[in-house]
Amino acid sequence: MEKLQNYINGELVAPISGEYFDNFEPATGKVYSLIPDSDLADVETATAAAKAAFPIWSRMSIQDRSDILLRIAQLIGDNLDELAQAESRDNGKPLKLARTVDIPRAQSNFHFYGTGILHFASESHSMGDLAINYTLRQAIGVAGCISPWNLPLYLFSWKIAPALAAGNTVVAKPSEVTPYTAYLLSKICIEAGLPKGVLNIVHGLGPKAGAAIIEHEDIPMISFTGGTATGEWIARTAAPKFKKLSLELGGKNPNIIFADCDFEDMMKTTVRSSFANQGQICLCGSRILVERPIYEKFKTEFVKRVKAMKVGDPSTDVNLGAVVSKPHMEKVLSYVELAKEEGGTVLCGGKRVMIDGEFSEGYFLEPTVIEGLPHTCRTNQEEIFGPVVTIMPFDTDEEALMMANSTKYGLASSVWTSNLKRAHTIARELHTGIVWINCWLLRDLRTPFGGVKSSGVGREGGFEAFDFFTEPKNVCIRY
Ligand code: NAD
Repeated sequence: MEKLQNYINGELVAPISGEYFDNFEPATGKVYSLIPDSDLADVETATAAAKAAFPIWSRMSIQDRSDILLRIAQLIGDNLDELAQAESRDNGKPLKLARTVDIPRAQSNFHFYGTGILHFASESHSMGDLAINYTLRQAIGVAGCISPWNLPLYLFSWKIAPALAAGNTVVAKPSEVTPYTAYLLSKICIEAGLPKGVLNIVHGLGPKAGAAIIEHEDIPMISFTGGTATGEWIARTAAPKFKKLSLELGGKNPNIIFADCDFEDMMKTTVRSSFANQGQICLCGSRILVERPIYEKFKTEFVKRVKAMKVGDPSTDVNLGAVVSKPHMEKVLSYVELAKEEGGTVLCGGKRVMIDGEFSEGYFLEPTVIEGLPHTCRTNQEEIFGPVVTIMPFDTDEEALMMANSTKYGLASSVWTSNLKRAHTIARELHTGIVWINCWLLRDLRTPFGGVKSSGVGREGGFEAFDFFTEPKNVCIRY
């Protein structure tokens, strides 16, 4: 059985303890590789390597740093097929999605930040005849980057690329549920000639290897994407150490549909925004609010299209592959039961999909649509993070906003309307970090990305990420 390795100080190495745990393939339910069960000792070695590499990397010319990051981007592109297949196998997502979204986006992340750093500038503040201030934006040191399993290489690289471009060195941990493409990235970094110690990838469990990164005295900044409960623990642990924190957490995103929208356009996108990646995207619209005059029409057409979605072998032309793990599948199914207990009606889906042969133990779920629930119930308030959406009618703009803003989350929202005034007004009043009008997941990497309330603290994307990964220092010079 293949053993993945940590990437520390430029080399692929076994965990110091020699311990590993199982890596499951979601589509078959079978173990297919072993993951290093790293602990504090591995994190110590990785952090020491990152600390030693920092003076050289942070003082390297920006052009040279950029060149190396662009080489990594190029190699990700060159290895698209291998990376996409690995991502699909490790995560359960359709191969087509990994080929067209996950891996191209990982490549773009390195490309975007590798070139972005060439254009990053800082400010100066003149005090007339008295003095001039200028701001130095300096790399900070060792960045801790921790990412989740839903978009494995996509989100891993979204943190690592700006951290490195800004001149920091990194100790990173991918999710233990989907470590494989991070392992392949280690090999790419070696091939690209990334100097040793600049990036260190430690595999392992969150409460063990992850916690060691959060607690480490020599890691002054943490960029974390994952669940809100984990984010709470990280915030509590990092606060007394005064670490810089960027937290990208859970969501329960509203998708608000007005009667005056372009129905076909909305319908096509809503099917995608509900079930892309088996509904396991933090930005998926899991609460669909529909203006009453088109509620029945929406329901009939939506359910028809959802029932026609294909679930199965991720390497074939399916709409949904497997969800990421057995515990996650069980969690999603338990929410369908909860929805029924809360008085909801399952309009379609709600069950595990059983497939004969090779995939008989796979974690496949039917795309599920539920109606008849109040916006206040647990099903409508808690993040399910699977192929389950609820639909609810509303009568006025105020009611739609009240329902949309009623959860503790505030990551993203979508609004469908052809009324410009309404689009702007609703966008202004929504308590979310991102609002999509007449679209979903249309991303420009220059824009600020992040949530409000329990969806997180801070922003990534564009120069926001460089602001996070640098410390501003004011220098005041008297004339
Ligand atoms: P998770 O919080 O369980 O794990 C995320 C990462 O944190 C993993 O690498 C895990 O090993 C690590 N971790 C767990 N406990 C830790 C600890 N005590 N200390 C340090 N690290 C620890 O989340 P998940 O189940 O992997 O991901 C799903 C969640 O991520 C969902 O809530 C989803 O909404 C969220 N998410 C948010 C965004 C965003 O941009 N806001 C994007 C994707 C996913």
